[in-house]
Amino acid sequence: MVYLFLGFSLAFGLIIGSFLNCLVWRLYKEETLLGRSFCPKCHHQISWFDNIPILSWLILKGRCRHCHKAIAVQYPLVEFIVGVLFALVFIKFYGAGFAYSPLDFYVWVFTGAKAWYLLAGWWAIAIMTIIFIFDVRWLLISLPAIIWSAVVIFSLDLILGYNFWNILLSVVIGASFFGLQFLLTREKGIGEGDIWLGGLMGLIFPNWHLLLAAIFISYMLGGITGIVMIIVWGKKLKTKLPLGVFLALGSVIALFFGQSLIDWYLGLLGV
Ligand SMILES: [Zn+2]
Repeated sequence: MVYLFLGFSLAFGLIIGSFLNCLVWRLYKEETLLGRSFCPKCHHQISWFDNIPILSWLILKGRCRHCHKAIAVQYPLVEFIVGVLFALVFIKFYGAGFAYSPLDFYVWVFTGAKAWYLLAGWWAIAIMTIIFIFDVRWLLISLPAIIWSAVVIFSLDLILGYNFWNILLSVVIGASFFGLQFLLTREKGIGEGDIWLGGLMGLIFPNWHLLLAAIFISYMLGGITGIVMIIVWGKKLKTKLPLGVFLALGSVIALFFGQSLIDWYLGLLGV
């Protein structure tokens, strides 16, 4: 039974990953979300059997059925990663339930707060995937995606029973962390989108300890990447790294390991 749900999480993640690939493109082009998917190169409509996550890409050998132009490896890669992350979120919130009988498990999944945690986790993965792809491809943060997600995640926070003032505190810390840098660096390095993203991270981590852990992990990743780039490619320090990419990565890592990191750190301090 548990494996059924695990399989479902994986499959659902694959489908959402496929949807996100398409959503990112439409957000960028400011196109409507309705209507069938089409090949971005020949604009030929994609049939459902050519739109199966990963499998279709493998069968078509990474080329469009009609114009035979290459389909970016981004498509199957995003599908795979989102699928795996969705399954991992499931394991994180239900891991201890593997010993339960099918009926117990069914009740547990659908009646407890865990289902909402699962939904919040999945949503956080989805929005961070959008932010990641957007920032890698176009060095931009999608404001509509952030605002819509903010509404959903704020609602989920309230459903999960987080105190309104704690949520607000996290949002203010997240937004002002980047807002202050924005003002101090005079708009160099930090973009306005990062301030919005900071606020959204506050909603995803309504516990500000976790929020700081997410930001810390992001900056560590950014710093390591910067150093590696300088060593490998000899890039100058001035080369701009897309901050949103690292904030998205840091947030996803903090979702899984943020609490362990905090516990470890507090352990070091002997608290
Ligand atoms: Zn085509």
